[in-house]
Formats: sequence, C-alpha cells, structure tokens
Amino acid sequence: MLKNKVGAKEKLREIPSVDSIAKSPSGLSWAIKHPMTRVIRAIREVTEEARKAVMSGNDSIDVSMTALVPIIESRLNKLSSLSLIPLINATGIVIHTNLGRSALAPEAMLNVLLAAEGYSNLEYDLSQGHRGRRNSHLQRLLRETSGAEDGIAVNNNAGAVLLALNALAKGKEVIVSRGELVEIGGSFRIPDVMSASGAILREVGTTNKTHLSDYKAAINENTGLLLKVHPSNYRITGFSEEVSIEELGRIGQEYRIPVMYDLGGGCLMDLKPFGIHGEPTVREAVSAGADVVTFSGDKLLGGPQAGIIVGKSYLIEAISKHPIMRAMRIDKMTLAALEATLHIYADPERARAVIPTLRMLTESAEVILHRAKAIARLIKKTATNAKVEIVEGFSQAGGGSLPEVNLKTHLVSVIADGISANKIEAGLRLGRPPVIARIAEDRLLLDARTIGAHEIGTLADCVCAVLCGEA
Ligand SMILES: *Cc1c(COP(=O)(O)O)cnc(C)c1O
Repeated sequence: MLKNKVGAKEKLREIPSVDSIAKSPSGLSWAIKHPMTRVIRAIREVTEEARKAVMSGNDSIDVSMTALVPIIESRLNKLSSLSLIPLINATGIVIHTNLGRSALAPEAMLNVLLAAEGYSNLEYDLSQGHRGRRNSHLQRLLRETSGAEDGIAVNNNAGAVLLALNALAKGKEVIVSRGELVEIGGSFRIPDVMSASGAILREVGTTNKTHLSDYKAAINENTGLLLKVHPSNYRITGFSEEVSIEELGRIGQEYRIPVMYDLGGGCLMDLKPFGIHGEPTVREAVSAGADVVTFSGDKLLGGPQAGIIVGKSYLIEAISKHPIMRAMRIDKMTLAALEATLHIYADPERARAVIPTLRMLTESAEVILHRAKAIARLIKKTATNAKVEIVEGFSQAGGGSLPEVNLKTHLVSVIADGISANKIEAGLRLGRPPVIARIAEDRLLLDARTIGAHEIGTLADCVCAVLCGEA
C-alpha cells in the first residue's frame, strides 16, 4: 500500500509538463497546423487523463513524452475535425432518418449554395421595394404540386402538425381513430403532440376497426377538427376497417368541421407505375377531401428537412398568422433547396431521374445489379483475401414510408477469412469516410441501391482498408 503510494507520487512527477510538451518538436509542429488554444487543450486533456489514471492506482501506465505524444496528436486531430461528416449508405434504406433522409438534387444543392453565399430577396418584395413574405417563394409551387388552394412550409412535419393543431383546434376536441394513434420514430406520438398543442384528443373506434358512425357520434359543439393520420411504418391488416379520407371529408362538410390529414410521406408523384403501391399522393389526399394536409419535405418528396402544410386558403391563412409560425419558419437555405426541388416536379419524368430519393426508390433491379457488379469487381481486385459475391435481397424505403413494399435489390456479400462480419462492419463504420453496411448470417452486405455510382471507388478503398489492414 505504502509502496504503491510512493510509486504513484514518482509516477506523477514523471508526467511531462504542458509547457514542455508544447515546446517539444512535436508540440512546435502541431502549433503550425492548429490554433494554439486547441494544442494546449489537447495536451491538458491527455496529461490530466494520465494523472487521473495514476491516481486511481494504474501504475503500469507509460506517462513518458514518447508515450503521450501520439495520444495527444490523435486527440488534436479529433478536436480539429468536423463532427457532421458525409458517409456512404450501404444499408439500402433509402429514406434513412439517422443518415440524413434525402440527398438533394444537384440543382437544389446549387440553389442552397447561392442562397448561403450572399443576400437574397428572402423577405423582400422586389416589385414593390418593401418587405415581402418568406412563403411567397413556395406558394405557387405548392399549389401546383398538390392541387390545394394554398400552402406554407415550416421546420419539419412534426412542427407542421403541432402548429396546425394549435392554430386550428386549441382547447377544442380533435377526433382521431384509435387505429391511428401511432408513434412515428423517435418521439413523435400523436397523443403527445396533441396534448402539447393544447388540443383535446377525442379517440374513437378501436385499434382494428373504426366506423363512420364512431366519428359522427363523437361530434359535438366543441369539436375543432377531424384528424386522419397516415400510420407510416405501421399497418393494421386482417379484420380491420378504417374510414377513408373521402368519407371523413363528407362528414366534415356536413358538420362544417375541417378535416386534417397528416400524410407524413409527402409523395408528390404517382409511384404505382414503378410497382410502389399504397402511398397516397398529396394531390390525391387533397382532392379526396382533406382540408389540410401535412407532410415532410425530406421523405418521399426528396427535398430538405421541412414540414409542409397545404389546404384551404382560410385555414392556411389562420395557420400562417399564428404566433408559433414565427418560431417554426424555415431557413433561407432550406427554402432554396425546397423551392428548387419543387420546381423539378413540373416534369415528373425528370423528377424521377434527378431527385435521388425518387431515383433510388424506382430504380430497376437490373440497374442496381450493374452497380453491384462494379462494386464487387473493384473489391475483388483490391481485397484479394475476401470472398465477394452478389446476392439478391430487398431494400426498404425507410422514413416510415411504404413498410409493405419490398424493393428487390442486389447486394454485394463480403466474407473474409479470419475477420468476422461484425469486425468488418465496425471497421467500415469507423473508417473515413464511414460506410454503414448490413450484416446477415455472418456476412457483410452492401446494398447497391443506395450506393451512388460516384461512391463505388471510395467504397472499394474503404473495404480494402479494413480487410487488407487486418490480414
Ligand atoms: C414522419 C412523420 C411525421 C414526422 O415528420 P418529420 O418531418 O420527421 O418531423 C409526422 N407524421 C407522420 C404521419 C409521419 O410519417
């Protein structure tokens, strides 16, 4: 015990001072590349950790300058690198919320750059020479793409729902089917959003069946809204029944109560010709009788994160004049991306080709196979110790969209002698750029659907770095 304490004291004295490390040849070279405050911070952190380790009884730790320098250097590199970085999505999940959902079309990206670079007429009416409205840039496009009378955009769809409920039904009852009281990823739960909005949830029907008569029976003088929610990543099948938006629209009209549809996905073009069924388009929801429709900008629409509200003019006006609107308004870069993306929809064929989310969702299995082959070929060339083959499988749309749609795809399967699939997966994830892959039956799987043609070379290098580094 006593010996240990003496050992620890000596060890503490061995830790080089911050100053001596900063003035060492390594310290001086760091100071050329990095701001001095950051160099000092890295040295302080690492020496302090060494001190703590010694104090807690670890007397085998090497605290010499030679041992600490590489640790400080990697800490310094970490402190100096960005946290949000691009990566390769090899999961095949197209609208992957954790990986940033939709990639933007080239012209949307360009428009973001232009908006970011300098001043713009964001809230300035050029024809009148005075203050204008942020939403004016989207109004016509939202009308065109949805068929609704009017439209606005806010920060995200969760915000859109919260705002619409608060503006249209605060203190009033909102009738929702029990089959639609869903949770959509993370923390968006309809009952919670409802209570946060100040509206009163009035549940009707049962989990599997809700009839028109259930809605009618619940209507009273304090009913503010009839709400329909797209169950997104969840489906009730079998002995089940729901009331369509057409029917809800009819009773809404009869009782003079607005009908709102939280659609989530925000599909602006018909995907049925590409074998993707079961997702109503925004236009269909509007024409079926929804007075207000809310949806995301970065799900099936394929644009930036945004929440879009379209519908009857008087309702959109009430929402846009609401004080919360100011707290939820979209940024100019988002607006730039959204406007450019919506423009593309004037030509649906082009939209499918240039909006990455739509392209990836509708791409044929043959085109995907072609890319999978190119990936496999390159990996085989560089990582000669691996067994690389192409297998068939399915991709997911993701983002709570189209849970029942199986998208046929081709995957590159990688098996390497002496390295488990888990280890390869971790190596790829921790590499630069990170590659996020799948694992099944102890094989590493790379889904070619979400891997861009321009990423193939980098991807092969990343796989090789993991396999060749280990061999
Ligand atoms: C995704 C989704 C939301 C939340 O949208 P965000 O854009 O992620 O905020 C709300 N409602 C439905 C039905 C959804 O699918």
